[in-house]
Amino acid sequence: MSKQATQEVLLEMPVVEGQPATAPLAELPAGNGSVDRRPKYRGVDRNQQTMAVIDVEELIGDDHKARAIWELLGKLDLSKFGEQVKSREGEAGRPAWEPRLLSSVWLYGYSEGITSARELERVMEHEPGLKWLMGLASINHHTLSDFRVKRKEELDELFAQMLVAMEEAQLVTLERVMHDGTKVRARSGSDVFRREQTVKERLEKARELVKEDPQGEGRTRREAAQQRARREREERLQAALEELKKIQESKKSEEEKKKARVSMSEAEARFMKHGDGGIAPSYNVQVSTDAANGVIVGVELSQQASDDRGLEPAVAEVEKNLGREPKQVVADGGFINRDSMEKMEAREIDLIGPLKDPRERSEAAMKASGIDPQYAPHFFIWDEKSNTLKCPAGATLEYVGGSQKSGNQYRQYRAQGGECVGCSEQKKCCPRTPEKGRMVSRLEKENEVVARFREKMSTEEAKQIYRQRGAVAEFPFAILKERFGLRKFRVFGKRKAEAEAMWACLAHNVMIWVRLCWHKPATAATA
Ligand code: SF4
Repeated sequence: MSKQATQEVLLEMPVVEGQPATAPLAELPAGNGSVDRRPKYRGVDRNQQTMAVIDVEELIGDDHKARAIWELLGKLDLSKFGEQVKSREGEAGRPAWEPRLLSSVWLYGYSEGITSARELERVMEHEPGLKWLMGLASINHHTLSDFRVKRKEELDELFAQMLVAMEEAQLVTLERVMHDGTKVRARSGSDVFRREQTVKERLEKARELVKEDPQGEGRTRREAAQQRARREREERLQAALEELKKIQESKKSEEEKKKARVSMSEAEARFMKHGDGGIAPSYNVQVSTDAANGVIVGVELSQQASDDRGLEPAVAEVEKNLGREPKQVVADGGFINRDSMEKMEAREIDLIGPLKDPRERSEAAMKASGIDPQYAPHFFIWDEKSNTLKCPAGATLEYVGGSQKSGNQYRQYRAQGGECVGCSEQKKCCPRTPEKGRMVSRLEKENEVVARFREKMSTEEAKQIYRQRGAVAEFPFAILKERFGLRKFRVFGKRKAEAEAMWACLAHNVMIWVRLCWHKPATAATA
């Protein structure tokens, strides 16, 4: 047998070279009296059967990435996946598919941009890499889908093992980790969000329907499926009600609590604003990337639209995966605040990120409270000798005492009410209670942690490091969204969505391993 991947033996071969497949053509007389013949074409015969001989090993080359993925998965311990398998050797029942095989199929699928279980099942019939992995067999899309989203704990373990392997291969150093978050739309639509009263009513109805269901033997499969669907609906509504309580607790006013809404199909999803301006039920996917080779070292889903509390959980996730914290964390302005600076300093992690000038922040705060930024505290001139301030209109503000907020120390000064009431700048400078006189808080001493961070970020070295952030931290998002299509989750629920995000990140890491380590015995120490 030659080295051809497929040799076809035709049982019937009615088409003979030189013989037309169609009926004999008429000779056409040409205008000049000579005979003009129609072109002669070769046709095909579909009324035949073919037997194909396939050498599976010859389907792909020696350097095909399917082999790399299979080899890599063979070096990892996937025994945890086996704990849930019901089929046992020596007992009746169909054997389950090997976790190494299912994992390889998914990771190979991701590497080819195939991220749907149905699509994977369909492509498996003709794609050489998948045909080789599967040994020409095929897996039902339900099995593929369940394996992807229902084995979160096992997947966590696989993700961590992969990282340890990459660390041993010196692809991960944790010297510098870039962290960022991106919003990904949830499966739930925005039209299923309801207020408390509606959720309670629907839950009551769902409970009544479940109570009416007959129990015991004698149910048809169809009836059993309908009952299961009703029970699941009741569970979903119960979860929605519990989640709604959490949302209400996060609201400040009674009015906001009353207006709070929750998704009845996916209680954990939250409305979030996206880069394109759209607002949709979503999760905030937080990803930490090691700067050395772009390996993703931590991934988790947050229900918070804001990133301001995201840094500490991100560091904890990296520590959970690799057993140690990063030395340096680089994040954008959304993560940088006094709380994150203090927490990173307490963990002795070097935090790098942008910090707004206090004047800019002060002007933004003035604007938010209805004062023209041109009347921010730094436009009031301090006289050290008399310890007073002079306002832009020339009035004197007397010292009234000191105050502290967020570790910052302030001196407070107040103008005479009469002067402000009669001032032409009053509407811009003191719009709310001019009769009390304009109050100005002057920063005397900044929080020590913030001051240290500000000093560090003023150095060229820190600025240089921060400039690398975009390329490293945002590259995985480009892969996840553009290549793996992770713009909207395919599954309902935070846990399943987390598993979906994690498979995409794992595939990203595996591709790095294949590119940098495979066939390099000196560094591919993944045992
Ligand atoms: S409102 Fe009062 S503090 Fe402001 S500019 Fe006028 S006098 Fe000065």
